Amino acid sequence: MKKKKWLLLFSGGITTVVFVILGFIAIAAIVIGLETMSSSCDSDSSGDTTTASAGGAGGSWTQSGTEANKTAKELFDYWTGKGMSGAQAAGIVGNVAGVEDTSLELHKQESGGSGQGLYQFTPDSKYTNNPKSDQSWSVQNQSDVVIALEPGTVKSFFNQTKSSSPSETAERWMTLYERPGIPHLEMRQAAAEKAYTIFGGASIAAKDSILGDASGTAATGSASDAETLGCSTSGDTSSSGAWGWPFKAIKSKQDVMNGSPLDSQHYGMTSYDRGGGNHYHDGWDFQQATWGGQNVVAVHDGTVYKVAYSSDGRDWHVDVKSDDGWYETYQEGFLSKSDLAVKEGDKVKVGDKIGTLTGTHLHLGVSKTEIEKAQNSWNKDDGTWKNPLDIISGGGSSDSSSPK
Ligand SMILES: [Zn+2]
Repeated sequence: MKKKKWLLLFSGGITTVVFVILGFIAIAAIVIGLETMSSSCDSDSSGDTTTASAGGAGGSWTQSGTEANKTAKELFDYWTGKGMSGAQAAGIVGNVAGVEDTSLELHKQESGGSGQGLYQFTPDSKYTNNPKSDQSWSVQNQSDVVIALEPGTVKSFFNQTKSSSPSETAERWMTLYERPGIPHLEMRQAAAEKAYTIFGGASIAAKDSILGDASGTAATGSASDAETLGCSTSGDTSSSGAWGWPFKAIKSKQDVMNGSPLDSQHYGMTSYDRGGGNHYHDGWDFQQATWGGQNVVAVHDGTVYKVAYSSDGRDWHVDVKSDDGWYETYQEGFLSKSDLAVKEGDKVKVGDKIGTLTGTHLHLGVSKTEIEKAQNSWNKDDGTWKNPLDIISGGGSSDSSSPK
């Protein structure tokens, strides 16, 4: 639970950047426009002759006859061809054309970013090394790889947004698939609405069976999907033994590892001194930079027995007692009580909202010892605290002590 100064500075800096950019969307639009222009000289086989395109709904892709427009339409047709509604396909196009790859060049590294292609595969080997990849960077093949990489995500998106508006689907695709550090949600939504209009989305309804087949066949060899299936995050079941991730955007252990590159955030013996020579971390930190602004949701069914502010470094925290002997604590992620969605006595199920991540990070701790008592072992690797990732991905069956 103890925080290290540089980590706070790092997280605080990111937070500040997020808020500044959110506050000045106009500036953000200019920045993205500049990025597009500055990298327009990249070699690329798409034959795109356009020079610059603003993010949101104002890019050259909205003008018929341009290469970018053809690519956007192809992208839209791919997803409706998989059974998605016009609004769902528009939501995906909106994410790509609005923010991720505003010039819709098929294979280009965005300036300042490390991602490649329409979906900003990061690193690009995520695309090139996938068994489904034919290395063509075509619209169809990049999209095939998206399904192969995250069949569970695609299916969730489809099931959750079958009758949603383009703005809603744009937000859902952003949350489920893109999981950006900085959202630019308005630009994704504006582009989605534009795509919906110019590509005639209103006349295309979702077709269940087709996407079901597509997801099913694409699931081969996806470890992350297997993990997804092994972990109930649906939130609508009453099975008390289930475990889920604290953010709905997380589908697998790998997503967490990708999102938490700093060793200091991991559970167990870490590489840095957390104070007084202590290198032990009694939980797992989920960073603001990756999950900020998103809902923190219950990882296990139980009863909220404590909502309090503690000045020992836990800040606002929510402690939950589960019927099967587990305790869960959600700490440090909430700047104020108003960021919390629960009160003492509330019963929560996996996936129910605990609050919104406004602090530098969420510290998640799990133990079979009551939380206040377990606090005594915050700096001791004595088996009191378990590795949340092991417990969640193992469905709680793993009761091993921390890795050495
Ligand atoms: Zn922590």
